[in-house]
Amino acid sequence: MAQIIDGKGISAEIRLKLHQEVIDFVSSGNPVPHLTAVIVGEDPASQTYVKNKILACKEVGISSETKLLPASTTQEELLQLIGQLNRDDCVSGVLVQLPVPDHINERTICNAVAPEKDVDGFNEINMGRLALDMDGFVPATPLGIKALLEHCNIATHGRNAVVVGRSKNVSLPLAILMHSDGKNATKALDATVTICHRYTPPKELAKHCRQADIIVVAVGKPGLITKDMIKPGACVIDVGINRIKDEKTGKHKLVGDVDFEEVRQVAGHISPVPGGVGPMTVTMLMHNTLQAAKKQAASRRV
Ligand code: NAP
Repeated sequence: MAQIIDGKGISAEIRLKLHQEVIDFVSSGNPVPHLTAVIVGEDPASQTYVKNKILACKEVGISSETKLLPASTTQEELLQLIGQLNRDDCVSGVLVQLPVPDHINERTICNAVAPEKDVDGFNEINMGRLALDMDGFVPATPLGIKALLEHCNIATHGRNAVVVGRSKNVSLPLAILMHSDGKNATKALDATVTICHRYTPPKELAKHCRQADIIVVAVGKPGLITKDMIKPGACVIDVGINRIKDEKTGKHKLVGDVDFEEVRQVAGHISPVPGGVGPMTVTMLMHNTLQAAKKQAASRRV
């Protein structure tokens, strides 16, 4: 039976450390780090995600606010607000909860957040920095997965890793991190990385997965990864969040992309949903916000 990766517990440990770091930062005469979250529209999932982020801010001593904008907000209005937040010295980090409504260009918005306040790491500058292994903000989910692997002492050097999904915000930055060579700012993970996506034929997906020592799945399809696709002892990280109806209880529940009960019988480690990657994502956002505040304080001193 696989060891369950307790993302919730690992998050709690990291948050305690972050809380102490925030206390030390503020007691050295710095302002309290501040995160501003912007939501456009009334997507209930976005509201829940942001609520969790705001609660985490409270837990680690970061101040925060949420700006709720109507779905009719124009791109120009949103850009104006981002501009104001970029110029506001009291704001350390800015995040615009995705997705934004269809009439707003997501990439334009991500690029409008000042790179030094881009705690989501979605600005093209931070993405480019990650690709070049330079210091910058790494998106919270990949950073959280990296922290889980390190915490559980999962070896990555020279190992085969499969990333299922190729999204720009989760899978791509994760794949970059997984094969980083450590020659510049970030520590090497040195895995051999294969990226699978929608057009990877199911047979090929299964073949790649069976060769993997580490599988990270970020697709949004319950039951995509099954027991027969797992090399015995492999580490399986499930990023997917799917809300499905439980046939036994009739109630809705959250599941990942991995057939958890079956896969745990062959894997060496497995992250559950909920309680795996989700809490780590929020925790790494706190980490990024504190780093942003520290960098801004340092640049003001120069
Ligand atoms: P996304 O942008 O929709 O990307 C999904 C990816 O899956 C795409 O690259 C897509 O390929 C690929 N895909 C679709 N069907 C596939 C198949 N049959 N086989 C292999 N790949 C397939 O989603 P995302 O933002 O990366 O999020 C993925 C999942 O993770 C979602 O369930 C989301 O809710 C969850 N999530 C969780 C957290 C967390 O903190 N736990 C954070 C972010 C996201 P194409 O590129 O070809 O379309």
